[in-house]
Amino acid sequence: RDLVSPEAEGDERLIEAALRPKRLAEFIGQARVREQLSLVLHSALRRGRPPDHVLMSGSPGLGKTTLSMIIATELGVPLRITSGPALERAGDLAAILSTLSEGEVLFVDEIHRMARPAEEMLYLAMEDFRVDVVVGKGPGATAIPLEIAPFTLVGATTRAGLLPAPLRDRFGFVAHMDFYEVGELEQVLHRSARLLGLELPADAAREIAGRSRGTPRIANRLLRRVRDFAEVRADGVISRQVAAAALDLYEVDAEGLDRLDRAVLEVLLRRFGGGPVGLSTLAVAVGEEPETVEVVAEPFLVRQGLLARTPRGRVATAAAWLHMGMTPPPDAFG
Ligand code: ATP
Repeated sequence: RDLVSPEAEGDERLIEAALRPKRLAEFIGQARVREQLSLVLHSALRRGRPPDHVLMSGSPGLGKTTLSMIIATELGVPLRITSGPALERAGDLAAILSTLSEGEVLFVDEIHRMARPAEEMLYLAMEDFRVDVVVGKGPGATAIPLEIAPFTLVGATTRAGLLPAPLRDRFGFVAHMDFYEVGELEQVLHRSARLLGLELPADAAREIAGRSRGTPRIANRLLRRVRDFAEVRADGVISRQVAAAALDLYEVDAEGLDRLDRAVLEVLLRRFGGGPVGLSTLAVAVGEEPETVEVVAEPFLVRQGLLARTPRGRVATAAAWLHMGMTPPPDAFG
């Protein structure tokens, strides 16, 4: 399942670091977010004050970490990186906040997974650049207010709706990151190929981009697999055919569906005539946990318009029959 997972795997982070655009002008796609952010940053620089706190929402692998690094670079300030799950206690957060330097950018990935006490501390810090450090326990406990340097919080979340309203409201700017167009992913691929010293013909880039599920991280990963394949099977020469053969071998199809996605559709169409069928029945039929089907396969299938979730169960769309090269029963779509 690794190949089309939007999450970073293993030591992938190291490779990714080398492929990250460093400046806003180098960042491909997300035109609206880029323009909004550029305004926010420029006006902050002009006023000589840290910008409002920024919340970025969007699927994994769309460039939230990259953008947070860019924000710090454009502002010419240091960047501190942490994540919601790492902030288990308020003390974890206090330790970070109290050592921030003036204007520093604090990036909190998966901010919706922060523990409650840390979250409450963050409200105050965001608003007043102050934290209350609680000393002692029980009735004798006292809160000591502690000034912290003005900073910019950049929070990242997969869904802004997961954040409690009081936290969400304290961000001055919310950047909604969308999936990338194929053309934008082609640009990402050309840029990465250049950095990796690879020759990537335009039609090969298009072939890979079309299978990348709208996600730069996946595009870069598929590019590396295509490179491996080309090295072993094609004297290192990447062509459209080589790219297609490589990705077919890894079972990533022309629309970016992998083996599990196809298994779900296959079962839904062949065994259940296109549905509706309940999630757990579907999961048993493909030999997976319901959660895997629901979290890993379904979102992409739904987004591609291949599958619909209805109150009566999962239903295949006309596009699903077409994609799998099968004919729907005559009465399937009314
Ligand atoms: P996660 O939430 O899993 O950390 P993320 O949204 O923070 O994911 P990044 O780590 O920023 O994603 O990006 C993943 C990879 O995709 C990086 O290698 C980065 O270079 C590349 N990438 C992301 N967005 C762009 C872009 N707009 N242009 C070029 N490369 C990009």
